[in-house]
Amino acid sequence: MGVNSQSERIKPLNRRPVGNAGLVVYWMQASQRARWNPALEYAIQQANELDRPLVVYFGLTDDYPEANERHYRFMLQGLAETQQLLKERGIGLIVQRGSPEKGIVGLGRDACLVAVDRGYLRFQVEWRKYAADRLDCPLMQVESDAVVPVEVASPKEEFTAATFRPKITSRLKQFMAPLEEDEPRVKSLDIQLGSLDLSSLEDLVQSLDIDHTVGRVNKLRGGTREAERHLSVFLSERLEDYTRARNDPTKDGLSNLSPYLHFGQISPLWVALQVARTDARGRDSFLEELIVRRELSLNYVFYNRRYDDFQGLPSWAKTTLDEHNDDRREYVYSREELERSLTHDPYWNAAQTEMRIGGKMHGYMRMYWGKKILEWSDSPREAFEIALFLNNKYELDGRDPNGYTGVAWCFGKHDRPWRERSIFGKVRYMNAEGLKRKFDADSYAAMWSTQSGTSGRTQK
Ligand code: FAD
Repeated sequence: MGVNSQSERIKPLNRRPVGNAGLVVYWMQASQRARWNPALEYAIQQANELDRPLVVYFGLTDDYPEANERHYRFMLQGLAETQQLLKERGIGLIVQRGSPEKGIVGLGRDACLVAVDRGYLRFQVEWRKYAADRLDCPLMQVESDAVVPVEVASPKEEFTAATFRPKITSRLKQFMAPLEEDEPRVKSLDIQLGSLDLSSLEDLVQSLDIDHTVGRVNKLRGGTREAERHLSVFLSERLEDYTRARNDPTKDGLSNLSPYLHFGQISPLWVALQVARTDARGRDSFLEELIVRRELSLNYVFYNRRYDDFQGLPSWAKTTLDEHNDDRREYVYSREELERSLTHDPYWNAAQTEMRIGGKMHGYMRMYWGKKILEWSDSPREAFEIALFLNNKYELDGRDPNGYTGVAWCFGKHDRPWRERSIFGKVRYMNAEGLKRKFDADSYAAMWSTQSGTSGRTQK
């Protein structure tokens, strides 16, 4: 990565001078990978300049908001591999139980400088602030999971992809550049600071005081190598036809990268560079999703602190939804009925089951899924909460800026007013006929029907 683009990724979170203590520490939180990680490379560079060993720290908390066994297993599969890959570079990764922001303050007493990657969600920002206020050495944040750093892409909350696209696109030339990787001069493998054993992963997962009711996902396994394998299959078999196939949930036409991007197990910049150098027909559509849409989500959660609340929606959407709050609903389902796929709609039930059992709903169905929750809930506010709850509980890629933005999109965010109708007001509507025009919706329903519950309905 060129010097220019790298320096715009770095931001001091406090004003402390470099200390005298013996370590440089990289607090790995959002970017859980050993390759193509700007925060890690920055920390290596600092350690080399200061002639200190670099230690990587990860705090494993049982209280990570809304995370359950499904998420922890996937994350720990990735961390075990990252520990191994860092070891090959002579760098020790210490994983300790406890709140990360407190753990880093403790470990920071032995550090002359701490680097951290960047997270956009409220609690991730608060964790970094907590540590910045308490560390006696500099805490340097390095943007590692956006192609273009969020404030560089735009200084304000954007209305739509159309307003955001020209801004971010104009910065791509500068930021779509390879990352220079260096090796640490002083190895840190012998430094014993006490780390959890990641080799018996299942024992560790079972020992965590977390929600164990959401089961494992069979199709997807965590880790950078798996992410790279998915990308390689996508590049050779699916990218060409991506523009068409991505709207067909009966086909395996997507990249499946979202869980890996969510846990920072693969670099979005690296993915973008791999895709950009092809001449596949689907290249531009894919880059639109990976860069414009994904980073528009970062823009939303960064500039709108109510990203997880109905109140965060644009005022036209709130007004129109409120005006239709009392409209008669033909179907109303409770959260539990929705959770167990017990609606009258086989396509919706299939999508919910794909998420609940498979851990990743097809992207096209996510829009329909969210719109129907709005249609079948007592009020738009309740619908918003239910959609976020289910998304974050069952999606392997949930609890992500993309999830908050995707749900908000179903309620009008980043969209424009459409023709007014019942319940939705001016918010865009979707129906099953639209699905059938795009793909073989009955085949999709059949793919998941054996695992779905029986149908049930209530009327208001
Ligand atoms: P691909 O089509 O292969 O896309 C590649 C990458 O581009 C994705 O991994 C993602 O980073 C980005 N991307 C694709 N579509 C979008 C989009 N619409 N908005 C922003 N970025 C996009 N995405 C999540 O990562 N986590 C979520 O919790 C999530 N929840 C959603 C909820 C709803 C109601 C909606 C409408 C969308 C949601 N999305 C979410 C966005 C999108 O559906 C997924 O990113 C995509 O389906 C992931 O599968 P993939 O990586 O195989 O997609």
